[in-house]
Amino acid sequence: MHKSLRDFDVIIAGAGPAGSSAAIHLARNDRRVLLVEQKKFPRAKLCGEFISPECRRHFENLGVANAMTNSDPTSITETVFYSSGGHHVTIPSSWFGGPPALGLSRAVMDDVLLRRARECGVEVIEGATITEPILDNEIVRGVKLKINGDEQHHTAPITIDATGRARILTRKLHAGEPKSKPKLIAFKVHLRNTRVAPGACEIYFYRDGYGGLSSVEGDISNLCFIISAEQVKRYHSNPDLVMREMVMKNRRAAYTLAHAQTESEWLSASWERFGRQQPSPAKGLLAIGDSAAFIDPFTGSGMLLAFESGELVADVINRHSKEVEADYTAEYLRKFESRLRISGWLRRAAFKPRLAGIGIALCGASKHFRSRIVRATRSSFNPASRSV
Ligand SMILES: Cc1cc2nc3c(=O)[nH]c(=O)nc-3n(C[C@H](O)[C@H](O)[C@H](O)COP(=O)(O)OP(=O)(O)OC[C@H]3O[C@@H](n4cnc5c(N)ncnc54)[C@H](O)[C@@H]3O)c2cc1C
Repeated sequence: MHKSLRDFDVIIAGAGPAGSSAAIHLARNDRRVLLVEQKKFPRAKLCGEFISPECRRHFENLGVANAMTNSDPTSITETVFYSSGGHHVTIPSSWFGGPPALGLSRAVMDDVLLRRARECGVEVIEGATITEPILDNEIVRGVKLKINGDEQHHTAPITIDATGRARILTRKLHAGEPKSKPKLIAFKVHLRNTRVAPGACEIYFYRDGYGGLSSVEGDISNLCFIISAEQVKRYHSNPDLVMREMVMKNRRAAYTLAHAQTESEWLSASWERFGRQQPSPAKGLLAIGDSAAFIDPFTGSGMLLAFESGELVADVINRHSKEVEADYTAEYLRKFESRLRISGWLRRAAFKPRLAGIGIALCGASKHFRSRIVRATRSSFNPASRSV
């Protein structure tokens, strides 16, 4: 038995930073927006919880800057990359432009954004799982969802897939898409008693992966690391063992994590691939955030991409464009394609300790080279342009 509730201008699946920010921008332009989230907030989320400085402009625009500041985030003034042997290179947060980065748990950040969306008039349904798109002649007309055992159908001329790497709506459209085995697994935990340097986000490279440690609110450090599925299997999928046997092979990690105590449950996630998907997988359907492209985590810019694509999609919709799908795709590619490509190159190096070591040495030797790489993972990159 299903209920069909009132129609909306836009339906958004998923209330991560991409979904909630798009909802806020749209609702403030008088769009009737439905935002559907499968979890009940606040909820923990697997993430490095490094909020890059450029996100602060988005917090201002979304009207959540004070709420974020009042949540006691850590100010992060530098990111330090450590090779497994202990060599390091430092990237000051000021190179991204503006104020320091922030360390704040996703439980808090995402909850602040969702509350703001409600305040702006967005209709929010939490604890509801989107199961599939409603299709009419291959055009997406809305979503089907399950809540407390009931099925509901909601319709709108535009639906946005913001379900992160799950890409639930897109995947349902391409049900025949071959599935490959996950090659990478990520783990995350909140810790006490680490020796992470104050104000630093530390990145550790080791065989078959890398990890990040930084402070968040309330004397807690967040450890988040990625490693090949093969290594995880070798250590019986025990995250504590993987941390000790693999992550702590990095000399600096061995020092900072020596007396760490877990303060939360471990979270884990696996995935098949990085990179870009189709920004508009079907007529009536647009994808934002990780559903459109999963950028390599060590660039610390996944949330930035989520905010930027949330802003972009709202901008295109608010312009009353007649060709929403084509316009959004063209603008998405123009804005993000080059940074996604360059981040992909860097990732390949990150998983090879020798290459990562050479990269760290090269970056250490040349400030110019370092700054070029940093900028290339953010804005559109023109190799001919001069560095500042
Ligand atoms: C290991 C790792 C470390 C990272 N570290 C950082 C970092 O330090 N800094 C950074 O900027 N980025 C980082 N990222 C990337 C960042 O986490 C993502 O880019 C960001 O969360 C994307 O936001 P989103 O809104 O697109 O998706 P998400 O944040 O994944 O949100 C998607 C939402 O959709 C909901 N959802 C899923 N399926 C359904 C469904 N069927 N029905 C309803 N709702 C659904 C989920 O519950 C979730 O709330 C990291 C990623 C990984 C994997």
